[in-house]
Amino acid sequence: MKKIAVLTSGGDSPGMNAAIRAVVRKAIYHDIEVYGVYQGYLGLINDNIKKLELGSVGDMIQRGGTFLYSARCPEFKEKEVRAKAIENLEKRGIEGLVVIGGDGSYRGAQRLSEEAKNLKTIGVPGTIDNDINGTDFTIGFDTALNTIIDAVDKIRDTASSHERTFIIEVMGRDAGDLALWSGLAAGAETILIPEVKSDIEEIAEKIQHGMDRGKKHSIIICAEGVMTGHQCGEELKKFINIDTRVSCLGHIQRGGTPTGMDRVLASRLGGYAVELLMQGDSAKAVGIQQNELTCTHFDEIFQAEHNIDKKMYNLAHQLSI
Ligand code: ATP
Repeated sequence: MKKIAVLTSGGDSPGMNAAIRAVVRKAIYHDIEVYGVYQGYLGLINDNIKKLELGSVGDMIQRGGTFLYSARCPEFKEKEVRAKAIENLEKRGIEGLVVIGGDGSYRGAQRLSEEAKNLKTIGVPGTIDNDINGTDFTIGFDTALNTIIDAVDKIRDTASSHERTFIIEVMGRDAGDLALWSGLAAGAETILIPEVKSDIEEIAEKIQHGMDRGKKHSIIICAEGVMTGHQCGEELKKFINIDTRVSCLGHIQRGGTPTGMDRVLASRLGGYAVELLMQGDSAKAVGIQQNELTCTHFDEIFQAEHNIDKKMYNLAHQLSI
């Protein structure tokens, strides 16, 4: 393999730059030319592709976001549109493509590997949601987790000073990992995640019991996929007479300097993606399982359902009595 390209797609996540850097440096180390595709699949269609050098990724490992930019590109689901992307890669002689993103981005990569005559694709899991099968952790999850913990710790000071119940809405439309991990790490009284049906009356009773035994404040972490923080407050008021405050953490969860864990993960996975391309693998995504680098066919990734760690969920419940 002489030439490869790399792109970032879907929602950005801290550590994507470190992953791009690893792809670029590992490839150049092995005398492979690397091209950066700007704006994800949109740039692939619009031919927004530039050669990257060793220096292109200098001073990048510590930066949040993605210097290649990311974009949503719904038209990439159409075969005729993807044909243009394949043409842009083929005219440069690019034989390998590393796609850093979520499982939507993997679907695009799978289509490309099926439809292009001479293109191998490898996915790298980049999303704060930690919702991709075939890996224990995704790039950006640890940073987002620590951002949430930091925010909850600060909010707890006010909750405690004013003796209030705070509802903190965190990201996670379909996956509750961020809510569960941050709730456990920040000692939240209640964690609401999309994977587990929540009983608001039971939650209200728990808060009431806490207040009856002199508890001054409560922290509820609510994943956005369950309901909004404000809706949660309204629901609680149907069962308990408390004054709640809501804090929606929003996009601060997606940004920021990647943690050491995310930088190391991104570097390992980015490097491994290039190794797989060099040995002729395609239509697979890299991952980390029990601290070992692994690769899984896209098909297998799409078939499995994302599951929450039930034992961890139960533990969080037991520790918050
Ligand atoms: P995140 O976890 O941040 O949502 P994601 O990669 O899952 O990341 P999506 O918006 O689902 O984000 O997908 C990113 C891009 O991948 C889409 O904008 C589209 O260009 C491409 N894509 C998604 N699904 C498909 C598909 N079925 N076929 C071809 N391309 C797709």
